[in-house]
Amino acid sequence: MRFDKTRTDAEWRAELSPEQYRILREHGTERAFTGQYWDHHEQGEYLCAACGEALFSSAAKFDSGTGWPSFYRPLNTDAVAEKTDTSHGMVRAEALCHHCGSHLGHVFPDGPAPTGLRYCINSASLTFQKKQD
Ligand code: FE
Repeated sequence: MRFDKTRTDAEWRAELSPEQYRILREHGTERAFTGQYWDHHEQGEYLCAACGEALFSSAAKFDSGTGWPSFYRPLNTDAVAEKTDTSHGMVRAEALCHHCGSHLGHVFPDGPAPTGLRYCINSASLTFQKKQD
């Protein structure tokens, strides 16, 4: 998989907070119910915390009860890349920023209509941009 926006490891370390680096670049996971956005309900867009690419709309956010921000689809079909992840004895679909390749979370097939998908995303992988009107 190739990504348009790349950085050296040293550059990522310099640009990201230690927690963001651990999650975005080392495939980490924040503890449930501890992140900034799992219970966040403002209207706007969620951007990749590493590269700023718009990834999800608040319109597709739902309360999954998991303690992580959850979306039933990305902002558009190109925003999020998926890769098979076999770590921790499970087979899961890892969600990556399509633009920079940073780790966002995982995609599960138990989401609500209309897609039936649940994009389970770390708050630390996102920044929020409030809708302007
Ligand atoms: Fe990104």
